[in-house]
Amino acid sequence: MNNLQAIVFDLDDTLYSERDYVLSGFKAVGNWADVNLGIDRNQGFTTLCNLYHQGVRNNTFNQWLAIHQIENPEVVTKLLNVYREHSPTISPFAESIDLLKTLTKSYKIGLVSDGYLQVQQRKWAALGLDLFFDTVVFSDSLGRENWKPSTAPFKLVLDRLNIPPEFSVYIGDNPRKDFCGARQLGMSTIWVKRSDSEYGDLQPPSLEYHPDLSIDSLSQVLELVRSWD
Ligand SMILES: [Mg+2]
Repeated sequence: MNNLQAIVFDLDDTLYSERDYVLSGFKAVGNWADVNLGIDRNQGFTTLCNLYHQGVRNNTFNQWLAIHQIENPEVVTKLLNVYREHSPTISPFAESIDLLKTLTKSYKIGLVSDGYLQVQQRKWAALGLDLFFDTVVFSDSLGRENWKPSTAPFKLVLDRLNIPPEFSVYIGDNPRKDFCGARQLGMSTIWVKRSDSEYGDLQPPSLEYHPDLSIDSLSQVLELVRSWD
């Protein structure tokens, strides 16, 4: 790596813990269900958290309503909307802020993040990180077909930063989608592989999905990129 000029980050589970977003959403759902379904908010929240900790991911609200003897697809849709539309209470990892404060002095900083546009925008507003970033790309604004591992959001972020891919690095947590498109363009890639994160145990599905380097924590980024200069 020569002349690193731009550092581009993923958002969820890279700059903050997505688990905090999930719990924040469960709290909103618990509050809504207390008022509208008569389910005690603390009990409801605790049951949602228990399902999450048991590994339930895709049909959490169906299972949760079944526990409370409610079977109504319209209620599931409503709960999903409450979850997606809530204003989250989330904070960046402490090391994210320390790192960004230092990096902004020497590099251009960008974001490429997947997920429903308005959901990601609400997370971004809650995290208060915008002041550190030169540009932010939510891939959903380019259409669902341009979510990672598409190269399109990476191309857009680099065009806006006006930096060629070979002078840039992408830092993310999910080997199933974060590194393939970035590498295809010629960016370097770093996997932040936290032992307690959602995707820490996943393996890249094939060679082209592999990152160039892996680290345990964002606090190792600074030393790494300085060694490239
Ligand atoms: Mg992520």
